[in-house]
Amino acid sequence: MPSAEEVRAELESWLDENWDESLTVEQWWERLAPTGYAHPTLPGNAGGKGWGRDLAAVVNTTMAEREVMGPPSSGLGWMLAAPTIGAHATQEQIDQFIPPILTGQVGWCQLFSEPGAGSDLAGLACKAEKDGDEWVISGQKVWTSGGQVADWGMLIARTDPDAPKHKGISYFAFEMDQPGVTVRPLTEMTGRALFNEVFIDEARVLDANMIGGLNNGWAVANSTLMFERASLGSAGKKPQTATPGKKGKALQRPVADFAKKERSEGGVPSLGPGLWQHYVELATKSGRITDPVLRQELIKLYSLIEINRLGTLRAKDPNQRTGAEPNIGKLHMSEMFRQFREVGLTVLGADGMLWGKSEPTTGGSVGELATFSPGPSIYGGTDEIQRNILGERILGLPREPGPDKGTPFKDLPKN
Ligand SMILES: Cc1cc2nc3c(=O)[nH]c(=O)nc-3n(C[C@H](O)[C@H](O)[C@H](O)COP(=O)(O)OP(=O)(O)OC[C@H]3O[C@@H](n4cnc5c(N)ncnc54)[C@H](O)[C@@H]3O)c2cc1C
Repeated sequence: MPSAEEVRAELESWLDENWDESLTVEQWWERLAPTGYAHPTLPGNAGGKGWGRDLAAVVNTTMAEREVMGPPSSGLGWMLAAPTIGAHATQEQIDQFIPPILTGQVGWCQLFSEPGAGSDLAGLACKAEKDGDEWVISGQKVWTSGGQVADWGMLIARTDPDAPKHKGISYFAFEMDQPGVTVRPLTEMTGRALFNEVFIDEARVLDANMIGGLNNGWAVANSTLMFERASLGSAGKKPQTATPGKKGKALQRPVADFAKKERSEGGVPSLGPGLWQHYVELATKSGRITDPVLRQELIKLYSLIEINRLGTLRAKDPNQRTGAEPNIGKLHMSEMFRQFREVGLTVLGADGMLWGKSEPTTGGSVGELATFSPGPSIYGGTDEIQRNILGERILGLPREPGPDKGTPFKDLPKN
């Protein structure tokens, strides 16, 4: 493995040669993808460099500090599908699915949760029935983030209702644009529609697009969830990026639109030390910085940011890892979100009640953060579920009692 200094130097010289503000997003991602820098933690046979998270963080920091546009890392294809496929799929599937993710040509969504199966994900009812060399899929998914701009979905469906619930599930790469698939956006209290309901009525997927083998979907889905928690809980500098896929409408735009943006549209930095500093500046300007309660809450937030940073550093050291890092990181992130909400609204005072551009100090960014803040403690597995996992899998406490383990899925009581 190269050292951090070697990675930085090598990437710096590659960027000197290749970064060009006159490129479109599509051209830049095409240039970046074959180098391995677009997703360094992927194995070499999947377009990555096989590096650990420590060296991937060096790549992120270098790109962020150089103010160049990053890879299509905001997409669930990059974040979840590529590493899952890299870990479980055949080489043929890797060659089919991963390159268009790294070049940002396609967008992916995660078709896991159902109206009756969220925390109890293995209780899912969406079914897949074999028909020749295809599977016929029927069921409903919900809370599907980015479903309206996705070309492909990571779909888990029941392929054997006679098996116990964890053992009769398979994982598919599922085409979204086909007859029988209806995507309906759900508007959240932020006013935006991040996620969707997806109705699937006798849609089809090739047997060749099953990832990880028949009835092995629970193990594959757990890899996706592990990558999700690790990524949601990770701290550190990241370069700016854009929504991948043709429906994301960024591919033909100039990279300059997405580089050099330290602050998000409302003039407020994204969650992290920069936003904390921004709150301190606002409170200093308004005079609220002398309020002892606000000062106490600011320091609590500062401590949370530092603990998360140190936790991320520890997770990079194989000798210090316990296996609990993704769950702890995710719990930290949801706690930080809530604390950013509390501090942000306190800094704004009564203005915090104003919505959108009518809020004069941050143009509505704090309001948006506040209304979104319940989300992180739910998605990727709720806080309670993270604690259950820590208790059962890490601390070895007894599992929750229940008949689920050995009983065929079809005989279990349903929601
Ligand atoms: C912003 C956002 C984006 C999302 N994006 C996606 C996506 O792209 N794809 C996708 O598939 N899903 C997505 N989800 C769905 C998310 O994964 C589920 O909402 C989550 O797993 C919880 O499931 P549920 O909503 O059915 O709640 P439930 O499972 O019904 O839980 C309700 C409450 O009961 C508690 N609870 C349940 N079981 C236990 C237990 N055994 N022990 C202790 N407490 C328990 C929970 O913690 C929670 O407080 C998203 C959710 C949000 C908020």
